[in-house]
Amino acid sequence: MKGKFPVDRFQEIETPFYYYDTALLRETLQSINHEAGKHEGFCVHYAIKANANPKVLNIICQAGLGADCVSGGEIQACIEAGFPSRKIVYAGVGKSDWEIRLGLKREIFCFNVESIAELEVINQLAGEMGKTARIAFRINPDVGAHTHAKITTGLAENKFGIAMRDMESVIEQAQAMQHVKFVGLHFHIGSQILNMGDFAALCNRINDLQKQLERKKIVVENINVGGGLGVDYEHPNRVPLPDFKAYFDTYARLLRLRPGQTLHFELGRAVVAQCGSLITRTLYVKQGTAKQFAIVDAGMTDLIRPALYQAYHKIENISSDDAIQTYDVVGPICESSDVFGKSVDLNATRRGDLIAIRSAGAYGEIMASRYNCRKMPLGYITEDL
Ligand SMILES: *Cc1c(COP(=O)(O)O)cnc(C)c1O
Repeated sequence: MKGKFPVDRFQEIETPFYYYDTALLRETLQSINHEAGKHEGFCVHYAIKANANPKVLNIICQAGLGADCVSGGEIQACIEAGFPSRKIVYAGVGKSDWEIRLGLKREIFCFNVESIAELEVINQLAGEMGKTARIAFRINPDVGAHTHAKITTGLAENKFGIAMRDMESVIEQAQAMQHVKFVGLHFHIGSQILNMGDFAALCNRINDLQKQLERKKIVVENINVGGGLGVDYEHPNRVPLPDFKAYFDTYARLLRLRPGQTLHFELGRAVVAQCGSLITRTLYVKQGTAKQFAIVDAGMTDLIRPALYQAYHKIENISSDDAIQTYDVVGPICESSDVFGKSVDLNATRRGDLIAIRSAGAYGEIMASRYNCRKMPLGYITEDL
């Protein structure tokens, strides 16, 4: 046992693999329920795109969260995990017909609609099936989140959502359609947001939009503010839980809800990032001309975030207590970007040592690929070991 890892048990498992600390996952879910539960009308959904491991999903479902899906496959995975259809919301700029039909058949809580073209298709398919689709419009609030350019979504230049100036007109079009029911407004400004000021800016924007709609006597049943709360990738040991109190309190303080209105959240990363680690074995230690490399058996096919977003993950040698040395930790894939960390301080590392790449529970296992004809990494929870 080193730190929180059952290293002895790990020895029997083929590397690389994902390990999910379910005690931490459950503690995270308790904190979410506790902090959100202080405020009336707050409903938290889990954004399943962050991690769809069935055992992880099951624990999240048991905690009572709803689900936020961005594809038909995700709707299926949520239903299989036990999420009630009435707690499923479905967003995405490009919903295909079978995905819309699946949502209609299952009578999900809400389609978050991103264009008039899509609204027309939903109305038509719902009519054919004798159903009424509950719909919200995803509005692009033009609020910039201070995060990586590839994960901001709420700026005018992004492909997501409907422009604010079109909001009233699309609502009126929806209200004139027979097979859709307009129930809410949806927003999502980006991911890995740690500055509460960004969420505050979204609240102010939503307050303005609600005032504008009120003048037209348009009633909105629910507001969905998306996800985006970040985690501390630098200090997974010291700060294992995101600041859910500050997050929910910001919305409670600044967003003016109307009587009876519910406020929906779609948290992904904040729920699962810290409980997951990618466990990999050191294959070789190679002395370069200017540095030494720890070559491990995991690669960007198992965890793509460092290659895709230049994301930082804390890396630990969980097999060694020897004096610290500095390594570039790299994978075996034939791409120069297949690097988990440069100039990483690790306890002196030898062939066979297990390395933990931390905070990998979100956008890790689910983004794995078979590039280089590699095997997909498996995921284990504490109870499996
Ligand atoms: C990705 C996404 C989320 C979750 O984002 P996190 O940063 O992981 O919390 C929520 N809502 C929508 C619409 C998304 O696309």
